[in-house]
Amino acid sequence: MIEMKTVNKNFGKLHVLKDISTKINDGEVVTIIGPSGSGKSTLLRCINLLGEPTTGEIFIDNENITSLSEKQVMKMRSEVGMVFQHFNLFPHKTVLENITYAPIKVRKTAKEQAHKEAKALLEQVGLSDKADVYPSKLSGGQKQRVAIARALAMKPKYLLFDEPTSALDPEMVKEVLEVIQSLADTGITMVIVTHEMAFAERVSSKIIFMDEGTIIEETEPKVFFDSPKSERAKIFLEKVL
Ligand code: ADP
Ligand code: MG
Repeated sequence: MIEMKTVNKNFGKLHVLKDISTKINDGEVVTIIGPSGSGKSTLLRCINLLGEPTTGEIFIDNENITSLSEKQVMKMRSEVGMVFQHFNLFPHKTVLENITYAPIKVRKTAKEQAHKEAKALLEQVGLSDKADVYPSKLSGGQKQRVAIARALAMKPKYLLFDEPTSALDPEMVKEVLEVIQSLADTGITMVIVTHEMAFAERVSSKIIFMDEGTIIEETEPKVFFDSPKSERAKIFLEKVL
């Protein structure tokens, strides 16, 4: 379970997250939506300590991650995977090397075992034939599917996605969403920032709507999309639907 308790985040004078409190239970798929600049990425980055909250506490499985040693942070990050908008693959490593790098380096998985697991993951994301190519030879959709396989290679308990399809050409969005949907069906706990509203409605157990650093609504997808309570959510949905 991920729990945030009155989390605030400032960048200098800019108050970006304002008293964020929420709970994400194991097995949930939570989608965060909201206007650009509302603090979605900042919130996600706090969950795996790519950014540190200015005040407040974050618990992962009842452990306060805002007071961990550096070594514990490394361990925690291996349990909380992240997939970025711009893939962030290592350009000088092959697809297979991208996927096996962290398991070998951080998890100390034996090379042969890591390769075996990576190949199974490549099959899972539909890229069995790409193990030995370099990222530059892949389409955006393929790169993102490799990035997902790479995150899964660490066997995370939680997976965070920050606009995983926003950098993709429209024809590639579907193949990536399908992979994420198939992961949702495995029961892994996921937090997804996305502007794909139909997908959010389909895949989520809960929607968090943010605006100006605050959680405005937090509810089941059907309730949120059919009858948003706040004026701000209504205005947002009118623009994007
Ligand atoms: P979203 O993901 O919802 O578009 P962000 O979390 O990226 O929003 O950003 C929220 C606000 O925080 C924006 O005003 C953004 O400019 C600011 N911000 C984000 N990261 C930084 C940073 N590293 N330094 C300064 N300001 C930042
Ligand atoms: Mg963002």
